[in-house]
Amino acid sequence: MNFRWLQRQGILTVPFPRSSFPVPPPPSSRLVVFRSSAPCPFPLNFSSGVKVRNRSSSSMGDCCGGIKESDVVVGDSDSLHRKLQSIRDGGPHKLQVIADFDSTLTKFLVNGKRGATSHGLLQQDNPEYNAKRHQLYLHYHPLEFSPNIPLQEKTMLMEEWWEKTHALLVEGGLTYDAISRSVSNANIAFRDGVLELFQILEELGIPVLIFSAGLADIIEEVLRQKLHRSFKNIKIVSNHMQFDDAGCLVAFKGKTIHSLNKNEHALDMAAPLHEQLGDADAPAQENGSVKMRTNVILLGDHIGDLGMSDGLNYDTRISLGFLNQDIEGNLDSYRKAFDLVYLNDAPMLGVVDLVRSLFPAES
Ligand SMILES: [Mg+2]
Repeated sequence: MNFRWLQRQGILTVPFPRSSFPVPPPPSSRLVVFRSSAPCPFPLNFSSGVKVRNRSSSSMGDCCGGIKESDVVVGDSDSLHRKLQSIRDGGPHKLQVIADFDSTLTKFLVNGKRGATSHGLLQQDNPEYNAKRHQLYLHYHPLEFSPNIPLQEKTMLMEEWWEKTHALLVEGGLTYDAISRSVSNANIAFRDGVLELFQILEELGIPVLIFSAGLADIIEEVLRQKLHRSFKNIKIVSNHMQFDDAGCLVAFKGKTIHSLNKNEHALDMAAPLHEQLGDADAPAQENGSVKMRTNVILLGDHIGDLGMSDGLNYDTRISLGFLNQDIEGNLDSYRKAFDLVYLNDAPMLGVVDLVRSLFPAES
């Protein structure tokens, strides 16, 4: 059904057996924007292993998993098809997932308002320190996005901002209880389908690296409170806090990860975590060493997130971008940077279907 649509659009000229999609790759490399008037072709429902949800006739314009067809954009379909086939050929034991946290795993809008970030949701018991941190935000946030500051200088400013903020958290006597309360009071939610995605990846033994310039302890708490379970395949690379026996923050562990050095720390911090994952994985003969996981699915909401896989020496990477705001102004750069772009705060269900299509469950 869908390959016929592709053929009608001039995107695909050679029929392929449904069970072995997407071989051969389509010949076109032009931009594909899926419109709501056409069946959703890709990558949501092309495999026999894909289960489609919410496809009632009343959901006009909805695609698989409730994603509007107009909200899925592929820049280079040839390239994407080749990468999908390469990752499928490599098998789940060669794949790892690297994901940004804020506005990638979490929704951009929650209850009609901008969703909280892992850093922004934190409320210390001492309001004076919340105000001090907010003052830092007002000072440094415009600098972060200023086009007039050279990158090197900006990087130093970000380091300064993060370290001052962390110092205020220690000085203000942050407790783990305050983190827990902050998360439960925060306007934050995972995209629909994140739990399902984690479950499928866990079943397949595929590790997930959550990479964030926020706070690891908060991300862990959000995972606990919102997903109500833990996953042995998930590791968080972020700023980790150190608490004393009374549950008070005393220090931060390791190097500070801020918005402009997520890349440089990917190597330093991800490597030992991957080793750890490899140890914790299923028997070596089945899953192999995590070091051998040279295929990557990367999820991010900024073009800078693509740097999260720097230094991993991957063979094949499929990058999935979530473009949440100023779509008109950013779509061109996003579709060039990412293999596939989800628009308008789309749910994670398209990624769920993509993984299922790569490695369908045995019936
Ligand atoms: Mg983000």
